[in-house]
Amino acid sequence: MSAASRPVIVGGGIAGLVAALRLARSGASVVLLEREMALGGLLRSRRLPTGQYVDQGTHFLADTGIEDLDVLVRSMLPASELRRLAPLQAGTFAFGRLNVSSASLDIRGLGRDLEAQIVAEALCTEENGQEASDLATHVMQLFGSTALRTVFDPIFKKLCGVGCAELAPDAMRLFSLARLVALNPAATRRLKSTPHGDARFSFHSNDEGKNPASAYYPTHGGIGRWTEALARAVQDEGVEVRLGTSVQRVTRHRDSTVSLSLSNGDHLASDLLVWSVPSGMLLRALGEPPESMPQVRASIIEHFVFDRPFLVGAHYVHTYGPDVGPFRVTLYPNFTDVPSEGFACTVETFAEATASVPLDQHADQSHADLVRMGLVDPRATRLWSDAPPDRAAFPVWTKNHRLALLRQRERVEQLLPECILIGRATGKDFFMTDVLRDTWRRCDAVLQQQNSLRASDPSRGGPPNDHAVLDGSVRDVA
Ligand SMILES: Cc1cc2nc3c(=O)[nH]c(=O)nc-3n(C[C@H](O)[C@H](O)[C@H](O)COP(=O)(O)OP(=O)(O)OC[C@H]3O[C@@H](n4cnc5c(N)ncnc54)[C@H](O)[C@@H]3O)c2cc1C
Repeated sequence: MSAASRPVIVGGGIAGLVAALRLARSGASVVLLEREMALGGLLRSRRLPTGQYVDQGTHFLADTGIEDLDVLVRSMLPASELRRLAPLQAGTFAFGRLNVSSASLDIRGLGRDLEAQIVAEALCTEENGQEASDLATHVMQLFGSTALRTVFDPIFKKLCGVGCAELAPDAMRLFSLARLVALNPAATRRLKSTPHGDARFSFHSNDEGKNPASAYYPTHGGIGRWTEALARAVQDEGVEVRLGTSVQRVTRHRDSTVSLSLSNGDHLASDLLVWSVPSGMLLRALGEPPESMPQVRASIIEHFVFDRPFLVGAHYVHTYGPDVGPFRVTLYPNFTDVPSEGFACTVETFAEATASVPLDQHADQSHADLVRMGLVDPRATRLWSDAPPDRAAFPVWTKNHRLALLRQRERVEQLLPECILIGRATGKDFFMTDVLRDTWRRCDAVLQQQNSLRASDPSRGGPPNDHAVLDGSVRDVA
C-alpha cells in the first residue's frame, strides 16, 4: 500500500468523524462523504417546543481505556459542560419488578420457586469448553433450561422477534443480559466468590464491583451537542466534508488506489478508503451482490414531557418484561441540567419493521406503561409527546446473519485489501465504546504502516496531494 495521504471516509457518524479527525491530525488530506445533510449519524439531539433536549435513543459516552482517544472524546466540550457519570445509574423492569439499583436482569419477580430453581441450575451447569453456535446453547451452558424457557426465550422474542435458537450467542451483549440479579446482596457476594458464580450473577448495586470506567453526557443540549463539537473539530482540521453525497461505484486500480463515482456525478481518487456504513453497500458499489443486508427491527422512539418529576433517580431503565411495550426509557432530568418546568424522557419500543402503529394510540399505551413500571407519577400530566417519523433500525443478530456478515467482510477484504471497515461496516460492534475503540485501533494500524513505509522509502514521505478529481469516465483497470 502506498502512503495513505488521501483518505476518503464514507459515513459521518461517530466512527467516520473520529477516523477523519485522527487521520487529518496525522497530516492526511481527508474527504468525508455523508449521505444526509447533517453529520453525527445516530448521535443527534433535538430541542422540543417545551425547551428540553432529547436524543435518538440512549447515547452516553464512556471511557474506552485508550488514553489518547478518551482525552480526545472529553476535549470536545469544556469540562464543566460534560458531566461525569460514575457509574451510570441503570435500572431494569422485568417480571413486574422495578429495580433501579442494577443494570442486570433481576429475576426475583418470577417468584421464589422459579428463582431458586434457576440459581440451582446455573450453579450446576458445566462448560464443555466449546463455543456455543447459537444463543439457546449459550444460555443452556450458562444458566440451564429453566432460565432459557422462562427468562431468555420470552425476552428475546420481545426484543428481537425470534427465540434464542435463531440468534447468535453474542446477541446477549446487545441488551446487557450476560448476568442475573438473584437472591440477596450477601448471598450474591458469596456466589461471586467463585469464577463460575461470578460469570453468572451480578452484584445488586450499580456501585459495587464496577470497573472504574466513567460515562459522560453534556450538561445541556443533549448528546448532539458533543457530536456537533466533534464535527466542528473535524472541519477545523481541514477535512473536506461533502454532505448529501454517497458513493455509487468503487473501482480498484492496479496501483491499489481506488476511484469513487459519487451520487452528484463527481469522481474522486483515493489511496485509502475508510468505509463506515454497512459493508453490503460497498459490495454493491464494487458490482458484487451483497451476501446479506442487515436484518433489523424498527425502533419507535417517543419523547414525553411530564409536569411532575420522575419517581426514580436512574439515568435509564431497561424494560425486559414481555408484559410492557418499551425496551428502554431514558430519564433526562436525572443526568442533565433542565429547564425548571417539564421533565423529559425518551421511550424506545421495538416494532415489526412493517407494522404501522397509530402513534397517538402508542403514546397513550407507553404513558400507561411508564406509570405501571413506577417511573411516572400516576397524577402526572403529559405536557408534550411526539415520535419522529424516522424509525431507528436496531440490528437483529441471528446466527445466519452474523455468519453472512463475516463472509461479507472477508469478501470486501479480498476485493479491496486497502479499504478499512469501521463502525457499522464491521458488523461486529454495536456500542459506541466498542465502535470508537475499534476505529481508533484501525486508524493507528494504518498510520503505523505508513510510518514504516516512509522509514523504508523516504520518497513516500512527501506532503499529501490534493484529492485528484477525475474527469470523464472511471476506467476499470482492476
Ligand atoms: C435505537 C438505537 C439505540 C442505540 N443505543 C445505544 C446505546 O445505548 N449505547 C451505545 O453505545 N450505542 C447505542 N446504539 C449504537 C450507536 O448508535 C452506534 O454505536 C453508533 O451510532 C455507531 O456509529 P457509526 O458511525 O458506526 O454509525 P451511524 O451513527 O449509523 O452513522 C453512519 C453515518 O453514515 C451515513 N451513511 C449511511 N449510508 C451512507 C452512504 N451510503 N454514504 C454516505 N453516508 C452514509 C449515515 O447517514 C450516518 O450519518 C444505538 C443504536 C440504535 C439504532
